[in-house]
Amino acid sequence: MKKILLGCIADDFTGATDLANNLVRSGMRVVQTIGVPATPLDAEVDAVVVSLKSRTIAPGEAAAQSVKALEWLQAQGAQQIYFKYCSTFDSTAQGNIGPVTDALMAAMGVDFTIATPAFPDAGRTVFKGYLFVGDVLLHESGMQDHPLTPMTDPNLVRVLQAQTKHKVGLIDYKVIGQGAQAIGERMTSLREQGVGIAIVDAVSNADLVVLGAALKNMPLVTAGSGVAIGLPGNFGIAPNPESAALPKATGLKAIVSGSCSRATNLQVADFVARGLPAFVLDPLSLLSGDAAVLDALKWAESRLAAGPVLIYSTAAPEALKRIQDQLGVQQAGELVEQALASIAKGLVALGVGQLVVAGGETSGAVVQALGMHQLQIGAQIDPGVPWCAANGMHITLKSGNFGTPDFFTKAFDHIA
Ligand code: ADP
Repeated sequence: MKKILLGCIADDFTGATDLANNLVRSGMRVVQTIGVPATPLDAEVDAVVVSLKSRTIAPGEAAAQSVKALEWLQAQGAQQIYFKYCSTFDSTAQGNIGPVTDALMAAMGVDFTIATPAFPDAGRTVFKGYLFVGDVLLHESGMQDHPLTPMTDPNLVRVLQAQTKHKVGLIDYKVIGQGAQAIGERMTSLREQGVGIAIVDAVSNADLVVLGAALKNMPLVTAGSGVAIGLPGNFGIAPNPESAALPKATGLKAIVSGSCSRATNLQVADFVARGLPAFVLDPLSLLSGDAAVLDALKWAESRLAAGPVLIYSTAAPEALKRIQDQLGVQQAGELVEQALASIAKGLVALGVGQLVVAGGETSGAVVQALGMHQLQIGAQIDPGVPWCAANGMHITLKSGNFGTPDFFTKAFDHIA
């Protein structure tokens, strides 16, 4: 088995896919694993992204899971480790970006690393250590009201300093503008001043590429998914179509949608407006056992041969709120997720080999029900949403707000 070059640890599932997608676009062949695998890797790839669900769990637990992922990646030969977090630096006052970075640094015996969530393609830029989301600062972007990780301070040096035992410094845009050698010199001087983690400015892809070159010999990198575009070059890898190659797609086509995000509502409406077969799942019908699941599968069975079918619980905000008031947010969510996961399993048993799943949490439930542990990452359909191959079939996991309105038909054309 060939050793991997880059080993990545992501603090959530769709964030892991986002990183994997950027690496594939930069020429690396990539597998994403769900959690830390219990066995060695069984694919020949350049990078592996281990996806954890560690963004908002207790800091000690996040650190322990991340170190376990590190050890597995090191056992697969990883030459460089990449800790990936959200491009809005999602964290609480306690972590988990700081505590996980500290734990990885200790486990690897390194005394210096960088941190930057910059991802200019997605509108995330860092200037003088301040994080912008589009045209506004982080704490004016809506992230100040996030239910789990409210971000009220856009100064990343301050934010990270509150979470780590290392001294935090800054490599600013002026140094980035002077090129990789100047960045290297700045790192050396920060290190001499006792800085352990440097926030790095980047406002363009060109900045990330220059930064990438300066990270060539850094054992541990921490960042959003943006920095990934600058790293494959250090291993002599350039963008190439083979990196996204997947086996030929076969089997019947279906879409399962449990996302109620705006983009998904538009995608469901577009599919229905085309006159294509769509079955709406009523959450209340799920209270009385699995009859509704069986109904959905029976409906699908007679239609699958003619082309893609859609089974969805996707609802507009008012309808969603009515159900949530009736059942409770948590119970409604779990009920629908489990039903859609059972439906996905049933569809695969009926011969579906090309499956689109809409919704982040829904995707988690479906992947678990299908027993998928490793996803080979293919070409992107829309930014951040690639086709993947796993367990002998093709699947794409679309988080709520991603994708154009025609996504549910476009996705299949993409692998035809
Ligand atoms: P997104 O990526 O758009 O946030 P998720 O799948 O992560 O989508 O989350 C949507 C949540 O809403 C899931 O828990 C899902 O089970 C739940 N849900 C979906 N449809 C309905 C509905 N009609 N009523 C209540 N809850 C729903």
